[in-house]
Amino acid sequence: MSKTRTIWQIHGTDAHRMALQLLEACDAIRLVPSGGAVALKPNLILADVAQNGAVTHPGVVSGCIAYFREHGVANVSIIESSWIGDNTIRAMRRAGYEDLCRRYNVPFYDLKRDQTHSVHTAIGNMSICARALDAGLLVDLPVLKGHCQTRMTCALKNLKGCIPDHEKRRFHALGLTKPIAALGAALKPGLVVVDSICGDLCFEEGGTPVQTNMMYACTDAVQADSYGRSLMGLAPEDVPYIELAERYGAGCASWNETDLVLLNEASAACGYGTPDATVARLTRCVHQDKACSACFAALVRALYATDGDHGHDIYIGQGWQGKALDGLGVGKCCKGAARYVSGCPPTADAVVRKLEGEG
Ligand code: SF4
Repeated sequence: MSKTRTIWQIHGTDAHRMALQLLEACDAIRLVPSGGAVALKPNLILADVAQNGAVTHPGVVSGCIAYFREHGVANVSIIESSWIGDNTIRAMRRAGYEDLCRRYNVPFYDLKRDQTHSVHTAIGNMSICARALDAGLLVDLPVLKGHCQTRMTCALKNLKGCIPDHEKRRFHALGLTKPIAALGAALKPGLVVVDSICGDLCFEEGGTPVQTNMMYACTDAVQADSYGRSLMGLAPEDVPYIELAERYGAGCASWNETDLVLLNEASAACGYGTPDATVARLTRCVHQDKACSACFAALVRALYATDGDHGHDIYIGQGWQGKALDGLGVGKCCKGAARYVSGCPPTADAVVRKLEGEG
């Protein structure tokens, strides 16, 4: 299997340890040019904590720092610019990054204050922050979550934090799709580590968190988004900037089961916390018994993508293994159901197809 197309995936609740294991598995040090600097780009869109579903868990960042330091990289930094209207430093403090920077003696650079270069892209010249462009290795650390305009946000859209605020305004005026794709081709992060521990179901600013307890890594931001789109239960036409980014040369959207390397089983993160009101409403016909977080999140996202109530009982979880079930089963534990979605865990995409009667 070619390392360039591999997606490494891990389940758990310890973000620091999961990030370390992912970087070890993908041998991330091979991506750092000799003597080069590493810039870590999390999502700190606004001032909040990771548990609300909007910002990158600080453990993901600390795991990456620990890995690169252990492998002799001296120049590691964190770069970010929050959305227009929020203060990046306030956001990094609220998310727990100040303590992290102190502990590892790593600088944090607010890109709202950075210099920019004008870069020619598929949509014309674009101002991009120098620290992102000049990094030896740019590591994209997005949260996989919903978005009210683009349906989802992950690796490609997270790069919007690498442009100045006036360029962010222009992105919205241009309708987001083309600029996001063009920026992806201009920056092309060398490594993507996706935080899908707790991403929001619908909004980039959080508030409807879905606990998934999973992370994955790959070296192609377009592939990372394409796989993330399946995990969100969305179709290619729902998120057109991914294929457009491929056409602009940002990467390759294709992935298949053979690209996936699972570092552990989904059962390494079993159980779902108290669901918020939206998740509780979506899952009122769901009979859950010892479901793994990733499995339950796939079902929640599929129900959201298909507008919820399908009028039949749905079973999910390890507690149903070996039982005959009258309804729809989700995941291999529920293969005793009259109809069931295979996978352990299944993607939301596969659950959507079954809910819509196609699978
Ligand atoms: S199929 Fe069963 S073991 Fe696999 S992820 Fe779902 S609940 Fe967990």
